[in-house]
Amino acid sequence: MTLSRVCYDCGARTNAPVARCDCGEPMWLETDPEGFDWDDCSDEPGMWRYESLLPISRPGGIADAAGGTPLVTDAAIDAFAGTNVHLKLEGEHPTGSFKDRGSALGIAAVAAGLAGDGSAVGTVSHGNMAMSTAAFAAAADLPCVVFVPDDIPSERLAVIDQFDPSLVTVAGEYGRLYDETLRLGTEHGIVFLNSDVPLRVEGQKTTALEICEAFAPDVPDAIVLPVSSGGHASGVWKALRELHEAGAIADVPKLYFVQAAACAPIAEAFDAGADEVTSVVAGETIAYSIANADPPSGTRALRAARETGGAVIAVSDDEIRAAQHALAVDAGITVETSSATALAGTKRVVEEGTIDPSDHVAAVLTGTGLKEASTAGSPTSGDHVELPALGEYLTEFTGHAD
Ligand SMILES: *Cc1c(COP(=O)(O)O)cnc(C)c1O
Ligand SMILES: [Zn+2]
Repeated sequence: MTLSRVCYDCGARTNAPVARCDCGEPMWLETDPEGFDWDDCSDEPGMWRYESLLPISRPGGIADAAGGTPLVTDAAIDAFAGTNVHLKLEGEHPTGSFKDRGSALGIAAVAAGLAGDGSAVGTVSHGNMAMSTAAFAAAADLPCVVFVPDDIPSERLAVIDQFDPSLVTVAGEYGRLYDETLRLGTEHGIVFLNSDVPLRVEGQKTTALEICEAFAPDVPDAIVLPVSSGGHASGVWKALRELHEAGAIADVPKLYFVQAAACAPIAEAFDAGADEVTSVVAGETIAYSIANADPPSGTRALRAARETGGAVIAVSDDEIRAAQHALAVDAGITVETSSATALAGTKRVVEEGTIDPSDHVAAVLTGTGLKEASTAGSPTSGDHVELPALGEYLTEFTGHAD
């Protein structure tokens, strides 16, 4: 079986296992959604209930734990954002982010020999994708090489390392590393499951499939998603196109993508009315894991926002902090800074009047805050009491709580 590929932009097709079209844009796998109906969803676990829309069948093992994440609401979060917010908790995944959807599918495809000649896998990542790829490769018994930038926090390195990949920190431009690995992978028989490669995108479609199924027969008015490389955005857009083509959704939700203001090449291209995303010089942001200055699927994300009637917006670090704090203290949800942009962005589009207070918005919280000590900000020392003074302390505590 070969998986054929198609370019969303120029329509070129190929059976070669390439990530890029000759026109330079990233490829999509060709799938056939015709006739798909929600009744076709199976009883398989997690994302595999959409097997009929995916290019491979369920591999079992840890892949069973990918997808099937909760969609929760919280009145205080609605008040914070000013609209009806449905929080998609992607941090519930085995390695704590939506990347597991793409890894589950991508690794299984390589293990099944469906990804060309490659018998090893690799990735380039700031952390989450490295963790995810290394974990799923370990479970599938595939050799795995992981390239990370050399400024990655050491707590993340330790988590990646426990899955025992060949872990390499690389000095140099992150954007170039991405292209180099795709080129060198082909030469060395290693399938690089980078952020927006066709197999990963197929797995990442399932975020949107789950959101839409939860709203069926309606759809949410909008889906708000943090965006960096544009790989997740690409998957979400592809899923909406397939569902619409199949007639499983009557309307396509608007796609809003959120970036950190200090590094917002896609938002800048959107504001400028540009046809293509060009690279920027990145500034510092607390949302460092979405700070891709030269996003490989940036133009594809730009197109997705425009064609669905959404937008690409940039939020400040202060807005991100406020959203992260609200999620924790109002809803009991810990997210990493980059994921908090989804709620910050939702609040912003309501303020700007593009989303109505009566709308229903799915905000995708892409990753857990549990991996980063820095997520919590600087820890306060808390209170300190001697054992005999406990009763006194609690009297004061309940007094305060009244
Ligand atoms: C990877 C990642 C993103 C960005 O996804 P892209 O597909 O690169 O656009 C957002 N949030 C978290 C937590 C991530 O790990
Ligand atoms: Zn093309």
